[in-house]
Amino acid sequence: APAPVWLPAWEAADGAARVRALFTATFDAEPAGTFSAPGRVNLIGEHTDYNGGLALPIAIEHRTWAAVSLREDSRVRLVSAQGQGVWECDLDEVAPGTVQGWGAYLAGVAWALRQSGRTVPGFEVAVDSCVPFGAGLSSSAALEASLAIGLDSLLGLGLGGDDEGRVVLAAACVRAENEIAGAATGGMDQAASLRARDGFALALDCLDSSVHHEPFAPEGCELLVIDTRAPHSLNDGQYASRRATCDAAAEALGVPTLRHWLDAAEGGVDGAVAAADAVLTDDVARRRVRHVLTEIDRTRRAHVAMRAGDWGAFGVLMDASHTSLRDDYEVTVPELDVAVEAARAAGALGARMTGGGFGGSSIALVPAGTSAAVADAVVAAYADHGFGAPAFLTSRAAGPAA
Ligand code: ADP
Ligand code: MG
Repeated sequence: APAPVWLPAWEAADGAARVRALFTATFDAEPAGTFSAPGRVNLIGEHTDYNGGLALPIAIEHRTWAAVSLREDSRVRLVSAQGQGVWECDLDEVAPGTVQGWGAYLAGVAWALRQSGRTVPGFEVAVDSCVPFGAGLSSSAALEASLAIGLDSLLGLGLGGDDEGRVVLAAACVRAENEIAGAATGGMDQAASLRARDGFALALDCLDSSVHHEPFAPEGCELLVIDTRAPHSLNDGQYASRRATCDAAAEALGVPTLRHWLDAAEGGVDGAVAAADAVLTDDVARRRVRHVLTEIDRTRRAHVAMRAGDWGAFGVLMDASHTSLRDDYEVTVPELDVAVEAARAAGALGARMTGGGFGGSSIALVPAGTSAAVADAVVAAYADHGFGAPAFLTSRAAGPAA
Protein backbone atom coordinates (compact mmCIF):
# COMPACT_ATOMS: atom_id res chain seq x y z
CA ALA A 1 0.00 0.00 0.00
CA PRO A 2 1.19 3.61 -0.61
CA ALA A 3 2.49 5.80 2.24
CA PRO A 4 -0.16 7.66 4.29
CA VAL A 5 -0.81 11.30 3.37
CA TRP A 6 -0.42 13.59 6.40
CA LEU A 7 -2.04 17.01 6.70
CA PRO A 8 0.11 19.13 9.03
CA ALA A 9 -1.21 22.23 10.79
CA TRP A 10 0.45 25.50 9.79
CA GLU A 11 2.58 27.55 12.11
CA ALA A 12 0.74 30.70 13.23
CA ALA A 13 3.24 33.01 11.51
CA ASP A 14 2.92 31.02 8.29
CA GLY A 15 -0.89 31.22 8.21
CA ALA A 16 -0.85 34.96 8.89
CA ALA A 17 1.80 35.56 6.21
CA ARG A 18 -0.18 33.58 3.62
CA VAL A 19 -3.40 35.60 4.04
CA ARG A 20 -1.52 38.87 4.27
CA ALA A 21 0.18 38.12 0.93
CA LEU A 22 -3.10 36.99 -0.69
CA PHE A 23 -4.84 40.13 0.58
CA THR A 24 -2.16 42.44 -0.76
CA ALA A 25 -2.01 40.67 -4.13
CA THR A 26 -5.81 40.79 -4.51
CA PHE A 27 -6.81 44.17 -3.05
CA ASP A 28 -3.56 46.09 -3.54
CA ALA A 29 -3.50 47.26 0.10
CA GLU A 30 -2.39 46.08 3.52
CA PRO A 31 -5.08 44.37 5.68
CA ALA A 32 -6.04 46.05 8.95
CA GLY A 33 -5.51 42.78 10.81
CA THR A 34 -5.13 39.02 10.55
CA PHE A 35 -7.20 36.56 12.53
CA SER A 36 -7.70 32.83 12.71
CA ALA A 37 -10.14 30.24 13.98
CA PRO A 38 -9.78 26.48 14.47
CA GLY A 39 -11.59 23.51 13.06
CA ARG A 40 -12.77 20.99 15.59
CA VAL A 41 -12.91 17.31 16.37
CA ASN A 42 -15.93 16.17 18.30
CA LEU A 43 -14.68 13.44 20.64
CA ILE A 44 -18.19 12.19 21.38
CA GLY A 45 -21.79 13.47 21.38
CA GLU A 46 -22.85 13.32 17.72
CA HIS A 47 -26.17 14.58 16.34
CA THR A 48 -27.01 15.71 19.86
CA ASP A 49 -26.64 19.49 19.50
CA TYR A 50 -29.99 20.05 17.78
CA ASN A 51 -31.62 17.81 20.39
CA GLY A 52 -30.57 19.95 23.35
CA GLY A 53 -27.92 17.37 24.16
CA LEU A 54 -24.28 17.23 25.15
CA ALA A 55 -21.14 17.26 23.01
CA LEU A 56 -17.46 17.04 23.84
CA PRO A 57 -15.37 18.68 21.08
CA ILE A 58 -11.82 20.01 21.03
CA ALA A 59 -10.52 22.79 18.80
CA ILE A 60 -7.76 21.43 16.57
CA GLU A 61 -4.46 22.99 15.61
CA HIS A 62 -5.66 23.28 12.02
CA ARG A 63 -7.03 26.77 11.49
CA THR A 64 -8.59 29.06 8.92
CA TRP A 65 -6.83 32.40 8.53
CA ALA A 66 -8.45 35.68 7.53
CA ALA A 67 -6.81 39.00 6.66
CA VAL A 68 -9.48 41.68 7.06
CA SER A 69 -9.98 45.38 6.32
CA LEU A 70 -13.13 47.42 6.86
CA ARG A 71 -14.60 49.60 4.10
CA GLU A 72 -16.37 52.95 4.20
CA ASP A 73 -19.29 51.60 2.13
CA SER A 74 -21.28 48.36 2.27
CA ARG A 75 -19.35 46.41 -0.40
CA VAL A 76 -18.08 42.95 0.52
CA ARG A 77 -15.11 41.61 -1.44
CA LEU A 78 -13.65 38.22 -0.61
CA VAL A 79 -10.91 36.00 -1.88
CA SER A 80 -9.94 32.50 -0.75
CA ALA A 81 -6.88 30.43 -1.59
CA GLN A 82 -9.39 27.56 -1.71
CA GLY A 83 -11.82 29.44 -3.98
CA GLN A 84 -11.79 31.00 -7.43
CA GLY A 85 -11.72 34.70 -8.17
CA VAL A 86 -13.13 37.49 -6.03
CA TRP A 87 -16.56 36.96 -4.45
CA GLU A 88 -18.54 40.19 -4.15
CA CYS A 89 -21.83 41.44 -2.81
CA ASP A 90 -23.45 44.48 -1.22
CA LEU A 91 -24.02 43.84 2.48
CA ASP A 92 -27.18 45.97 2.40
CA GLU A 93 -28.71 43.47 -0.02
CA VAL A 94 -27.85 40.33 1.94
CA ALA A 95 -30.88 38.43 3.22
CA PRO A 96 -31.89 34.76 3.34
CA GLY A 97 -31.85 33.39 -0.19
CA THR A 98 -30.01 36.28 -1.87
CA VAL A 99 -26.40 35.08 -1.95
CA GLN A 100 -24.75 31.88 -3.11
CA GLY A 101 -21.37 30.22 -2.84
CA TRP A 102 -18.72 30.19 -0.17
CA GLY A 103 -18.90 33.95 0.41
CA ALA A 104 -22.36 33.46 1.92
CA TYR A 105 -20.73 32.08 5.08
CA LEU A 106 -18.86 35.37 5.57
CA ALA A 107 -21.46 37.83 4.31
CA GLY A 108 -23.84 35.92 6.58
CA VAL A 109 -21.73 36.61 9.66
CA ALA A 110 -21.86 40.36 9.01
CA TRP A 111 -25.59 40.14 8.25
CA ALA A 112 -26.22 38.27 11.52
CA LEU A 113 -24.20 40.80 13.54
CA ARG A 114 -26.30 43.54 11.96
CA GLN A 115 -29.45 41.60 12.86
CA SER A 116 -28.27 41.55 16.48
CA GLY A 117 -28.12 45.35 16.44
CA ARG A 118 -24.44 45.97 15.67
CA THR A 119 -23.34 48.44 13.01
CA VAL A 120 -21.21 46.60 10.47
CA PRO A 121 -19.79 48.17 7.29
CA GLY A 122 -18.51 46.40 4.20
CA PHE A 123 -15.11 44.71 4.24
CA GLU A 124 -12.40 42.96 2.31
CA VAL A 125 -11.17 39.54 3.38
CA ALA A 126 -8.50 37.13 2.18
CA VAL A 127 -8.83 33.56 3.47
CA ASP A 128 -6.54 30.56 3.53
CA SER A 129 -6.90 27.37 5.51
CA CYS A 130 -5.25 24.10 6.48
CA VAL A 131 -8.59 22.68 7.71
CA PRO A 132 -9.64 20.17 5.06
CA PHE A 133 -13.01 21.03 3.42
CA GLY A 134 -16.07 18.90 4.01
CA ALA A 135 -14.01 16.53 6.15
CA GLY A 136 -16.30 16.73 9.15
CA LEU A 137 -13.73 18.96 10.89
CA SER A 138 -15.82 22.08 10.55
CA SER A 139 -14.04 24.20 8.00
CA SER A 140 -17.33 26.11 7.68
CA ALA A 141 -17.40 27.17 11.34
CA ALA A 142 -13.67 27.98 11.21
CA LEU A 143 -14.36 30.24 8.23
CA GLU A 144 -17.25 32.01 9.96
CA ALA A 145 -15.43 32.37 13.27
CA SER A 146 -12.27 33.79 11.66
CA LEU A 147 -14.32 36.73 10.36
CA ALA A 148 -16.53 37.03 13.45
CA ILE A 149 -13.48 37.51 15.67
CA GLY A 150 -11.93 39.83 13.08
CA LEU A 151 -14.98 42.09 12.85
CA ASP A 152 -15.26 42.06 16.64
CA SER A 153 -11.68 43.26 16.93
CA LEU A 154 -11.70 45.85 14.12
CA LEU A 155 -15.10 47.28 15.08
CA GLY A 156 -14.37 47.19 18.82
CA LEU A 157 -17.57 45.27 19.54
CA GLY A 158 -16.05 43.94 22.76
CA LEU A 159 -17.45 40.44 22.32
CA GLY A 160 -14.27 38.41 21.90
CA GLY A 161 -12.88 39.20 25.34
CA ASP A 162 -15.03 36.85 27.38
CA ASP A 163 -17.13 33.72 26.98
CA GLU A 164 -20.39 35.63 27.25
CA GLY A 165 -19.43 37.73 24.24
CA ARG A 166 -18.23 34.70 22.34
CA VAL A 167 -21.67 33.13 22.80
CA VAL A 168 -23.02 36.12 20.82
CA LEU A 169 -20.38 35.67 18.09
CA ALA A 170 -21.11 31.92 17.90
CA ALA A 171 -24.84 32.62 17.56
CA ALA A 172 -24.13 35.02 14.68
CA CYS A 173 -22.06 32.31 12.96
CA VAL A 174 -24.88 29.77 13.38
CA ARG A 175 -27.38 32.20 11.86
CA ALA A 176 -24.98 32.90 8.98
CA GLU A 177 -24.67 29.21 8.18
CA ASN A 178 -28.35 28.31 8.66
CA GLU A 179 -30.03 31.36 7.17
CA ILE A 180 -27.61 32.82 4.62
CA ALA A 181 -25.42 29.90 3.53
CA GLY A 182 -28.50 27.67 3.76
CA ALA A 183 -26.67 24.83 5.48
CA ALA A 184 -28.23 23.28 8.56
CA THR A 185 -25.96 23.35 11.61
CA GLY A 186 -26.77 22.71 15.23
CA GLY A 187 -24.27 25.04 16.91
CA MET A 188 -21.64 22.67 18.29
CA ASP A 189 -19.10 23.57 15.61
CA GLN A 190 -19.27 27.32 16.18
CA ALA A 191 -19.10 26.87 19.97
CA ALA A 192 -15.97 24.75 19.61
CA SER A 193 -14.25 27.24 17.31
CA LEU A 194 -15.04 30.29 19.42
CA ARG A 195 -15.32 28.98 22.99
CA ALA A 196 -12.67 26.24 23.27
CA ARG A 197 -9.63 26.68 25.49
CA ASP A 198 -6.05 25.61 24.73
CA GLY A 199 -5.40 22.25 26.40
CA PHE A 200 -9.05 21.63 27.25
CA ALA A 201 -12.00 19.80 25.77
CA LEU A 202 -15.23 21.76 25.64
CA ALA A 203 -18.04 20.02 27.52
CA LEU A 204 -20.95 21.73 25.80
CA ASP A 205 -24.53 21.59 27.00
CA CYS A 206 -26.65 22.54 24.00
CA LEU A 207 -29.79 22.99 26.08
CA ASP A 208 -28.58 26.24 27.62
CA SER A 209 -25.28 26.75 25.69
CA SER A 210 -23.32 26.42 28.93
CA VAL A 211 -19.79 25.04 28.76
CA HIS A 212 -17.33 23.40 31.08
CA HIS A 213 -13.65 23.29 30.15
CA GLU A 214 -12.18 19.87 30.92
CA PRO A 215 -8.39 19.36 30.72
CA PHE A 216 -7.62 17.11 27.73
CA ALA A 217 -4.12 15.69 27.44
CA PRO A 218 -4.73 11.94 27.43
CA GLU A 219 -1.81 10.33 29.17
CA GLY A 220 -0.31 7.49 27.17
CA CYS A 221 -2.58 8.13 24.17
CA GLU A 222 -2.88 10.38 21.17
CA LEU A 223 -5.67 11.35 18.84
CA LEU A 224 -5.50 10.26 15.21
CA VAL A 225 -7.92 11.80 12.69
CA ILE A 226 -8.67 9.90 9.50
CA ASP A 227 -10.15 12.06 6.73
CA THR A 228 -11.86 9.41 4.61
CA ARG A 229 -12.06 11.76 1.60
CA ALA A 230 -15.20 9.83 0.73
CA PRO A 231 -17.56 11.84 -1.48
CA HIS A 232 -20.69 12.85 0.45
CA SER A 233 -23.40 13.96 -1.89
CA LEU A 234 -26.42 12.92 0.20
CA ASN A 235 -25.29 15.00 3.16
CA ASP A 236 -27.77 17.88 3.13
CA GLY A 237 -31.03 16.03 2.68
CA GLN A 238 -30.04 13.31 5.14
CA TYR A 239 -29.08 15.78 7.85
CA ALA A 240 -32.37 17.61 7.42
CA SER A 241 -34.32 14.38 7.53
CA ARG A 242 -32.59 13.29 10.79
CA ARG A 243 -33.45 16.63 12.34
CA ALA A 244 -37.04 16.41 11.16
CA THR A 245 -37.42 12.90 12.60
CA CYS A 246 -36.06 14.06 15.97
CA ASP A 247 -38.32 17.12 16.02
CA ALA A 248 -41.36 15.03 15.17
CA ALA A 249 -40.45 12.46 17.84
CA ALA A 250 -40.04 15.16 20.48
CA GLU A 251 -43.44 16.52 19.55
CA ALA A 252 -45.02 13.06 19.75
CA LEU A 253 -43.42 12.62 23.17
CA GLY A 254 -44.67 16.03 24.27
CA VAL A 255 -41.26 17.50 25.10
CA PRO A 256 -39.39 20.51 23.67
CA THR A 257 -36.29 18.38 22.94
CA LEU A 258 -35.26 14.74 23.31
CA ARG A 259 -32.90 15.89 26.08
CA HIS A 260 -35.93 16.86 28.15
CA TRP A 261 -37.31 13.36 27.66
CA LEU A 262 -34.06 11.77 28.86
CA ASP A 263 -33.79 14.00 31.91
CA ALA A 264 -37.43 13.48 32.91
CA ALA A 265 -37.49 9.70 32.44
CA GLU A 266 -37.39 7.26 35.32
CA GLY A 267 -34.85 4.45 35.18
CA GLY A 268 -32.08 6.39 33.51
CA VAL A 269 -31.31 6.04 29.82
CA ASP A 270 -32.76 2.52 29.58
CA GLY A 271 -36.01 3.75 31.08
CA ALA A 272 -36.05 6.71 28.70
CA VAL A 273 -35.56 4.48 25.65
CA ALA A 274 -38.23 1.99 26.78
CA ALA A 275 -40.72 4.76 27.51
CA ALA A 276 -40.06 6.35 24.10
CA ASP A 277 -40.49 2.99 22.37
CA ALA A 278 -43.89 2.66 24.02
CA VAL A 279 -45.09 5.94 22.52
CA LEU A 280 -43.42 5.98 19.10
CA THR A 281 -44.97 3.68 16.52
CA ASP A 282 -42.40 3.89 13.74
CA ASP A 283 -39.33 1.63 13.98
CA VAL A 284 -37.06 4.15 12.24
CA ALA A 285 -38.09 6.92 14.64
CA ARG A 286 -37.48 4.57 17.59
CA ARG A 287 -33.95 3.87 16.43
CA ARG A 288 -33.17 7.52 15.76
CA VAL A 289 -34.42 8.45 19.22
CA ARG A 290 -32.50 5.59 20.80
CA HIS A 291 -29.30 6.96 19.27
CA VAL A 292 -29.89 10.45 20.57
CA LEU A 293 -30.85 9.35 24.09
CA THR A 294 -27.99 6.87 24.46
CA GLU A 295 -25.48 9.27 22.86
CA ILE A 296 -26.28 12.00 25.36
CA ASP A 297 -25.84 9.44 28.13
CA ARG A 298 -22.53 8.22 26.64
CA THR A 299 -21.27 11.78 26.39
CA ARG A 300 -22.05 12.37 30.04
CA ARG A 301 -20.14 9.20 30.95
CA ALA A 302 -17.26 10.06 28.62
CA HIS A 303 -16.87 13.38 30.39
CA VAL A 304 -16.62 11.51 33.70
CA ALA A 305 -14.04 9.10 32.20
CA MET A 306 -12.06 12.05 30.84
CA ARG A 307 -12.00 13.72 34.22
CA ALA A 308 -10.79 10.45 35.79
CA GLY A 309 -8.17 9.92 33.06
CA ASP A 310 -9.77 6.55 32.32
CA TRP A 311 -8.98 6.35 28.60
CA GLY A 312 -9.89 2.68 28.40
CA ALA A 313 -13.45 3.54 29.47
CA PHE A 314 -13.43 6.55 27.14
CA GLY A 315 -12.47 4.32 24.20
CA VAL A 316 -15.28 1.85 24.94
CA LEU A 317 -17.76 4.74 24.82
CA MET A 318 -16.30 5.93 21.49
CA ASP A 319 -16.82 2.45 20.05
CA ALA A 320 -20.41 2.32 21.30
CA SER A 321 -21.06 5.77 19.83
CA HIS A 322 -19.90 4.61 16.42
CA THR A 323 -22.06 1.48 16.54
CA SER A 324 -25.08 3.59 17.43
CA LEU A 325 -24.39 6.07 14.60
CA ARG A 326 -23.96 3.18 12.17
CA ASP A 327 -26.92 0.99 13.14
CA ASP A 328 -29.48 3.28 14.76
CA TYR A 329 -28.81 6.70 13.26
CA GLU A 330 -27.54 5.33 9.94
CA VAL A 331 -25.20 8.19 9.09
CA THR A 332 -21.98 6.28 8.46
CA VAL A 333 -20.60 5.13 5.10
CA PRO A 334 -18.33 2.11 4.50
CA GLU A 335 -15.23 4.36 4.48
CA LEU A 336 -16.00 5.60 8.02
CA ASP A 337 -16.70 2.06 9.24
CA VAL A 338 -13.56 0.56 7.69
CA ALA A 339 -11.38 3.33 9.17
CA VAL A 340 -12.83 2.61 12.61
CA GLU A 341 -12.45 -1.17 12.29
CA ALA A 342 -8.88 -0.96 10.98
CA ALA A 343 -7.85 1.48 13.71
CA ARG A 344 -9.28 -0.78 16.40
CA ALA A 345 -7.58 -3.84 14.93
CA ALA A 346 -4.31 -1.88 14.97
CA GLY A 347 -4.61 -1.18 18.70
CA ALA A 348 -6.86 1.86 19.12
CA LEU A 349 -8.49 2.17 22.54
CA GLY A 350 -11.59 3.41 20.75
CA ALA A 351 -12.66 4.83 17.40
CA ARG A 352 -15.68 6.51 15.90
CA MET A 353 -16.85 8.72 13.11
CA THR A 354 -16.88 12.43 13.98
CA GLY A 355 -19.02 15.23 12.56
CA GLY A 356 -22.27 14.77 10.69
CA GLY A 357 -21.35 11.59 8.82
CA PHE A 358 -22.00 10.52 5.18
CA GLY A 359 -18.28 10.94 4.59
CA GLY A 360 -15.95 13.15 6.55
CA SER A 361 -13.64 11.81 9.22
CA SER A 362 -13.23 9.06 11.75
CA ILE A 363 -11.11 9.52 14.86
CA ALA A 364 -9.16 7.00 16.90
CA LEU A 365 -7.67 7.24 20.37
CA VAL A 366 -4.44 5.29 19.96
CA PRO A 367 -1.52 4.45 22.27
CA ALA A 368 1.08 7.23 22.22
CA GLY A 369 3.56 6.86 19.40
CA THR A 370 1.40 4.50 17.32
CA SER A 371 -0.39 6.95 15.01
CA ALA A 372 1.93 6.18 12.09
CA ALA A 373 1.42 2.42 12.45
CA VAL A 374 -2.34 2.80 12.76
CA ALA A 375 -2.36 5.05 9.68
CA ASP A 376 -0.45 2.37 7.75
CA ALA A 377 -3.10 -0.18 8.78
CA VAL A 378 -5.94 2.10 7.65
CA VAL A 379 -4.26 2.75 4.28
CA ALA A 380 -3.86 -1.00 3.78
CA ALA A 381 -7.51 -1.63 4.67
CA TYR A 382 -8.64 1.10 2.25
CA ALA A 383 -6.56 -0.46 -0.53
CA ASP A 384 -8.14 -3.85 0.23
CA HIS A 385 -11.63 -2.34 -0.08
CA GLY A 386 -10.79 -0.44 -3.27
CA PHE A 387 -11.44 2.94 -1.57
CA GLY A 388 -9.55 6.08 -2.56
CA ALA A 389 -6.65 7.06 -0.30
CA PRO A 390 -7.57 8.73 3.03
CA ALA A 391 -5.58 11.53 4.66
CA PHE A 392 -4.44 11.78 8.27
CA LEU A 393 -3.81 14.39 10.88
CA THR A 394 -3.14 14.55 14.57
CA SER A 395 -3.89 17.34 16.98
CA ARG A 396 -3.79 18.34 20.56
CA ALA A 397 -6.59 20.43 22.09
CA ALA A 398 -5.90 23.86 20.60
CA GLY A 399 -7.03 27.39 21.35
CA PRO A 400 -10.09 29.29 20.04
CA ALA A 401 -10.58 31.99 17.41
CA ALA A 402 -8.24 34.90 17.98
P1 ADP B 1 -17.01 21.07 6.95
O1 ADP B 1 -17.47 22.20 7.79
O2 ADP B 1 -17.17 19.75 7.63
O3 ADP B 1 -15.62 21.22 6.43
P2 ADP B 1 -19.11 22.03 5.28
O4 ADP B 1 -19.80 21.45 4.09
O5 ADP B 1 -19.93 22.40 6.45
O6 ADP B 1 -17.94 21.02 5.67
O7 ADP B 1 -18.34 23.34 4.85
C1 ADP B 1 -17.51 23.34 3.72
C2 ADP B 1 -17.81 24.58 2.90
O8 ADP B 1 -17.39 25.74 3.62
C3 ADP B 1 -17.06 24.61 1.60
O9 ADP B 1 -17.77 23.96 0.59
C4 ADP B 1 -16.96 26.11 1.33
O10 ADP B 1 -18.17 26.60 0.79
C5 ADP B 1 -16.84 26.69 2.73
N1 ADP B 1 -15.44 26.90 3.12
C6 ADP B 1 -14.82 26.38 4.19
N2 ADP B 1 -13.54 26.80 4.26
C7 ADP B 1 -13.33 27.60 3.20
C8 ADP B 1 -12.20 28.32 2.70
N3 ADP B 1 -11.02 28.30 3.31
N4 ADP B 1 -12.37 29.03 1.56
C9 ADP B 1 -13.56 29.06 0.90
N5 ADP B 1 -14.64 28.38 1.34
C10 ADP B 1 -14.55 27.66 2.46
MG1 MG C 1 -19.47 22.51 8.45
